[in-house]
Amino acid sequence: MTIDVAVIPGEDAAPEAMDQVIRIIDSLDLEIAWHYPEVGAAAKEKWGTTFPDAAIQLIDQCTTTLFGSTSGPSGRALHYLRWGKQTYANVRPARWRPGFRSPLAKPQGVDFVIVRENLEDLYLSLEGELADLAPLGLTSGTAGKPPQALGTGFYALKAITEEGSARVIRYAFELARQRRARGLPGHVTLGSKWNMLPKSDGLFRDIGEAIAAEYDDVPYRAFIIDDLAHRMVADPHALDVVVMPNLYGDILSDAAAGLVGGLGLAPSGCYGNDYAYFESAHGTAPDIAGKGIINPTATLMSAGMMLEYLGLTEASRQIDVAITRIYRENRSLTPDQGGQAGTVQFADSMIQLLSATDPSTPIAR
Ligand code: ATP
Repeated sequence: MTIDVAVIPGEDAAPEAMDQVIRIIDSLDLEIAWHYPEVGAAAKEKWGTTFPDAAIQLIDQCTTTLFGSTSGPSGRALHYLRWGKQTYANVRPARWRPGFRSPLAKPQGVDFVIVRENLEDLYLSLEGELADLAPLGLTSGTAGKPPQALGTGFYALKAITEEGSARVIRYAFELARQRRARGLPGHVTLGSKWNMLPKSDGLFRDIGEAIAAEYDDVPYRAFIIDDLAHRMVADPHALDVVVMPNLYGDILSDAAAGLVGGLGLAPSGCYGNDYAYFESAHGTAPDIAGKGIINPTATLMSAGMMLEYLGLTEASRQIDVAITRIYRENRSLTPDQGGQAGTVQFADSMIQLLSATDPSTPIAR
């Protein structure tokens, strides 16, 4: 049976990566039909809106969405995929493979996953003028003044809920169990800033403790987020599943990508209870748009996560094996990984490898 997948390539250099990823996956002859909802600048010109109803309908008709990256115009579509579809767990793997250009002296064995809460925290984008807070009668716990007395400026609201924290933390524990079953360590590390923000970030930590007590087979630790940032760089081998609120997860997952070799290698999947979509963790790379050199690996690995979600496990595994080989053999790598190949050449090599890959080849770690 054909699986319908919506594709939103995004802006700047992102579509250059997406086009090649679609070509690579098509080379596997899977029963996937790609659909391209009209969103962003093209939709605006034609329909007067960046996210017309027809696009929503098409996304809803498809089983999942593969998303490039947006610099703004496809933003409403992205918001729909997150908040509209309640995809609360943003899973961002950071796994080094031979050939990945890591700055670490010993990157061998670095293999952890950040589970970032995807819908709350500062990313609700609730901002306003400090003066507007006067009627609330608030006093800063540190500055000892009401917010409107701090000066002229803006506030941003950080919201952490019990429900939102519990579901993402539970997701992290389930993922740890799955990883344990695959021979990985299978433990959870939680980070938040509970010392400065005992209510919001304190709640996140308290819920972590409560859920950890339910999963007594899954080892659990919690660190204040700055301590965790240090540990992530100083001893990344000690991490397995790492769960944190939205903003910290966004920042530290870019840092994690840097540890294993760069943003071009950082995939992600956003999972909810009954929907998931997939996008690379990097942005639209506007500085290299049109040059044909964006590294499509992050988008390809995200597509691999998508294939697994769709139950196309063997295809996902084949892609994983081919990525491991292309880097191990230093074939047709893009400039961010020290190579001279363009995006299309990289894809050509992947297609060649996929047609030659023995499916029984074990996944190298
Ligand atoms: P966002 O806020 O949307 O995450 P950003 O400001 O983090 O975006 P990116 O678009 O991720 O910025 O790019 C940061 C740098 O990394 C740029 O120099 C960009 O060219 C580079 N970069 C990002 N992704 C890739 C990729 N897939 N291949 C090569 N270079 C990349």
